[in-house]
Amino acid sequence: MILDQFSLKGKVAIVTGSNTGLGQGVSRAFVEAGAKVVGVSRRPSTETEEMLGKDNFYNVIADLSSTDVIPGVIQKSIEHYGRIDILVNNAGIIKRQDSIEFSEENWDSVINVNLKTVFFLTQAVAQQFLKQGTGGKIINIASMLSYQGGIRVPSYTASKSAIRGITMTLANEWAKYGINVNGIAPGYMATNNTQALRQDEERSADILARIPAGRWGTPADLEGAAVFLASAASDYVNGFTIAVDGGWLGR
Ligand code: NAP
Repeated sequence: MILDQFSLKGKVAIVTGSNTGLGQGVSRAFVEAGAKVVGVSRRPSTETEEMLGKDNFYNVIADLSSTDVIPGVIQKSIEHYGRIDILVNNAGIIKRQDSIEFSEENWDSVINVNLKTVFFLTQAVAQQFLKQGTGGKIINIASMLSYQGGIRVPSYTASKSAIRGITMTLANEWAKYGINVNGIAPGYMATNNTQALRQDEERSADILARIPAGRWGTPADLEGAAVFLASAASDYVNGFTIAVDGGWLGR
């Protein structure tokens, strides 16, 4: 049955940034599809845990601005659920400042969380996939700014464009091991990440007017693509970043 291909029954997923927004939505969708989720967050994912139940969701507290936390994330995931099948690199930050005066701190902080830790966490999880010998699924949360320049967000654009690039690199290297590496590029979604943008009346109206679907996206809008890329239904999809954007990129 085709719907069985989308099942995540028996799978264990790591989702970073699981306390809120898109990471919380993806965690919920994975549990509904049958998976157990290790949610990684720097603040406790209390709301997500209450929503999904302690049997289905295990919270690991880690600040992903440093790669030092990676061995602990892997070890705790294995100790708790015994294996890893799926990784969603969702945690991310954005800093807004005119490029003419953009600070080194705003550059480094974004690149560290959105790119450096993503690469090395992905590497560590892929090493675990190889140990298990069962392949696996990596989903990188990209952005419209994996395709476009954006305004006043140079480090974010650099990180998200690079994410789309390494999604292809890693897919090229690891497809032979049964590891699928793909991305999801969300459009403009109503989460903490876009709060400042939505509060700016002029920018908010401009953005809304350009979205063919005529509304901001929600975490629920991402769930179908996430389950697809985490499941056997996408076994022959490698290195591609799918836009879930209400038509923004096609415009
Ligand atoms: P969000 O609500 O701000 O969520 C970001 C998540 O990342 C939060 O859980 C946050 O934790 C976590 N995080 C940030 N820095 C971290 C760190 N150092 N260590 C551990 N966790 C950290 O925004 P969102 O919209 O759900 O964003 C999720 C992903 O989607 C991000 O990669 C973002 O760039 C991407 N994205 C969002 C949109 C959009 O329109 N919303 C569009 C394109 C792409 P805290 O709550 O503790 O900060």
